[in-house]
Amino acid sequence: MDSIIKITNLSKIYRVGSEKVVALQDVNLELKKGEFCCFLGTSGSGKSTLLNVLAGLEKPSKGSIKIKNVPVEKLSEKKLAEFRQKNIGFIFQSYNLVNYLNAVENVSLPLVFKGASKKERIKKSIDILKAVGLPRHLRHKPTQMSGGQQQRVGIARAFVTNPDIVFADEPTGNLDSKTSKEVLDLMISLSKENDRTLIMVTHDINIAKRADKIVYILDGKVERVEERNVEGTYEQN
Ligand code: ADP
Ligand code: MG
Repeated sequence: MDSIIKITNLSKIYRVGSEKVVALQDVNLELKKGEFCCFLGTSGSGKSTLLNVLAGLEKPSKGSIKIKNVPVEKLSEKKLAEFRQKNIGFIFQSYNLVNYLNAVENVSLPLVFKGASKKERIKKSIDILKAVGLPRHLRHKPTQMSGGQQQRVGIARAFVTNPDIVFADEPTGNLDSKTSKEVLDLMISLSKENDRTLIMVTHDINIAKRADKIVYILDGKVERVEERNVEGTYEQN
């Protein structure tokens, strides 16, 4: 498989007053196109920081990130925004839907930023909302939907632009176990059916065991990387 993300000597240091917090320290990692990768670690280990830096939501302090061979940390704000719109989808733990917009309008938002026509936006949004199992909730607002339904809208919004990479930060963290499984299955199938790369943060080993690759994060460092083999067990690479 081709490499899609290459991370070299990546560090992220936050300054809080006179204190320095080392959130990531010298991370090196390569991720392949089409794989489902989980960042697994305890709270505070640096998982979200790594995801946010990869997704271009935060700047690294040191090191480089190449996504599809583009050094994203070198892009201007404008170029980075364009790059993200074209290549990246993001799913949040708390859904981050706009409360006064209905499902179709929420899903349409990234298409508005991409400059699609209104007709195209509505058609694509309705199609993907049907695909995520919400054909009867097109005009519902977030407060009129359950957590699982809201996350399905969040998933539809992440996938509607046809991104190569979808990032998800604890996407099932607010859901019960049955709904979590359904939502996870949905994300995996939408990724696999289009050879998209899915990169997910979790603290739950049972969720991580659905992934092709598990990256163990400890104290801001990559502790080890395991890949699932043909027998379905994981081995260190
Ligand atoms: P995780 O997602 O694994 O729980 P985070 O990436 O959120 O961990 O945090 C890693 C470390 O960086 C923690 O010590 C956290 O307190 C710190 N941190 C995260 N974001 C910030 C920030 N914006 N300012 C200062 N410190 C931060
Ligand atoms: Mg986190």
